[in-house]
Amino acid sequence: MQQPDTDILIAGGGLAGATLALAIARRVPGYRITVAEAFPLAEAPAPEDYQPSYDARSTALAWGSRKIFEDLGLWAAISAQAAPIERIHVSEKGRFGVTRLAARDHHQPALGYVADNRWLGLCLMDALRREPRIEWLAPAEVGPVRPLEAGVDVTLRQNGETRCFRTRCLVVADGGRSGLREALGIGVHRHEYGQYALIANVTTERPHEGTAWERFTERGPMALLPLQGGPRPGHSSALVWTLSPEALDEVLGLGERDRCARLQAIFGWRLGRFIRFGESHHYPLTLATADETVRPSVALVGNAAHALHPVAGQGFNLALRGLMALVESFRFARAHDLSPGDLTVLARYQQQHEADRRQTIGFSDSLVRLFGGDLPALGPLRNAGLVGLDLVPAAKHWFARRAMGLGATGSPRQPTDRYREHWQ
Ligand SMILES: Cc1cc2nc3c(=O)[nH]c(=O)nc-3n(C[C@H](O)[C@H](O)[C@H](O)COP(=O)(O)OP(=O)(O)OC[C@H]3O[C@@H](n4cnc5c(N)ncnc54)[C@H](O)[C@@H]3O)c2cc1C
Repeated sequence: MQQPDTDILIAGGGLAGATLALAIARRVPGYRITVAEAFPLAEAPAPEDYQPSYDARSTALAWGSRKIFEDLGLWAAISAQAAPIERIHVSEKGRFGVTRLAARDHHQPALGYVADNRWLGLCLMDALRREPRIEWLAPAEVGPVRPLEAGVDVTLRQNGETRCFRTRCLVVADGGRSGLREALGIGVHRHEYGQYALIANVTTERPHEGTAWERFTERGPMALLPLQGGPRPGHSSALVWTLSPEALDEVLGLGERDRCARLQAIFGWRLGRFIRFGESHHYPLTLATADETVRPSVALVGNAAHALHPVAGQGFNLALRGLMALVESFRFARAHDLSPGDLTVLARYQQQHEADRRQTIGFSDSLVRLFGGDLPALGPLRNAGLVGLDLVPAAKHWFARRAMGLGATGSPRQPTDRYREHWQ
């Protein structure tokens, strides 16, 4: 019988796959880890040569995610270019209710942080290169999967060559349109929101002062997240603007000045005038959840397991908590001399992560449905919700903990809390 080429093969070296590789290397002794990434490894500059750019996309990292990166020894690097979110301001256009959350009310220095994805990628690549147990193959594509009695064979395409590659455990981290999930015949529960997210970095006349703005409009939610650098430090924010397909076409047809004016009309003047509207990217918004996240020798993580609406900035934060649950399961496997692909090992990951997954998906989906739809009857209810939240400290505390990625307090302990404690 052919020996496995690796213990754990991670298919996809995006944010989820790369973080998982690092976490296994740093938390679980002994395993050989291979990451196959379809995209060519960019000639990434060293982190010290990094310059924030106008086309960068950003991720809001919850407070809980900071704790995870601290544990992985990566936070010192990430924090050099991460802007703290000291306050969150939630409002609805044309309505009175406003909710304000402040880090100091929750005895934390920040509710979360905003880091641009390119910076996160550079920090991860820099750390991965220094891990001798990680083999990084790029560009390399993982193809069809053939389950074995113990482990799986996959087809690996690299440098124009195709070879069979055997692993004891395959981690599917190939993103929201996961070809491997489909090849495995794993079903997906999909809800199309019929909207797009337009992403751009913008400059405002007034400084953001560490405030993240969530604004719900009749056309869908909009978020402005404070950025660390930018051409005018302290005045740059990352915009996530939800638009219908027609509205997206309209905005894309506008020049920079008109885009600023359109944004101004919706967001208002809390940050003064919008001065610049950087390069934009747009994404169709879908909630996609895989029907299964584990099978013998196979685990799904990141967007391959669940792709969320970005309104509440929960997708990668949820993914990170899932990765840590998987790492804990691999530690269990090492301690009990089990294969990392053993179903009892992977089922632990699934069980530990499931409640968090369900609650977080439900939380962001209900935010979109409550605030995102063009349903006038919901207006007063939504308004009451925001006003109520501002007045009731316990409700605010609950919302803040969710936003921080810490889970709700006061509720019965979930199994996920057990592994989270380890990381907090
Ligand atoms: C507009 C927007 C804003 C967001 N904002 C936030 C936020 O503020 N906070 C937050 O927590 N989350 C946010 N998210 C979610 C977050 O971006 C995702 O959760 C995260 O990027 C998922 O990473 P991933 O590694 O699972 O997938 P991806 O980033 O899609 O990576 C998948 C990788 O797999 C590779 N690949 C694909 N097929 C193969 C194959 N066959 N073989 C080998 N490699 C393959 C691809 O090249 C890619 O590099 C946002 C998402 C969107 C769309």
